[in-house]
Amino acid sequence: MICPFCQNANTRVVDSRVTGPKGGDGIRRRRECPECQRRFSTLERVEQRMPQVVKKDGRREPFDVSKVLQGLQVALRKRPVSSEWVQGAVQRIEQGVFSEADKGEISTHRVGEFVLAELRSVDRVAFLRFASVYQEFNTAEEFMELIQPLLTSDQDQ
Ligand SMILES: [Zn+2]
Repeated sequence: MICPFCQNANTRVVDSRVTGPKGGDGIRRRRECPECQRRFSTLERVEQRMPQVVKKDGRREPFDVSKVLQGLQVALRKRPVSSEWVQGAVQRIEQGVFSEADKGEISTHRVGEFVLAELRSVDRVAFLRFASVYQEFNTAEEFMELIQPLLTSDQDQ
């Protein structure tokens, strides 16, 4: 397993536990990178249970949590957000996807909304970066709709 922070190829497992909504359909492993000392989690599941992500053009591909991590890291580049938060967010997004995948399927749009919800709570710049890349806005109104909650919470302060 490659370290998501420094790309070092050798990481070690520090903890493994069985997980899953019905108990025992996945294994979560806590890993540590001996190069950068950072920790991250991986989740192994049998492939049939992995939700299929339905793209805009109708093609499907297995949900890949590493893409979620990648998207978060790009959005959060040089932002003051800890790697611990990122790992927690990845797990929450993954849980959301697994619990919501209807008949084993979920749209890329919905996955993006999970990511946006996490970013909105932690860093506005990252939120807007992700929104501008992953949401396809048809109109300026759609974009305003998305950022309206941010503007509103400004006024509350
Ligand atoms: Zn590392």
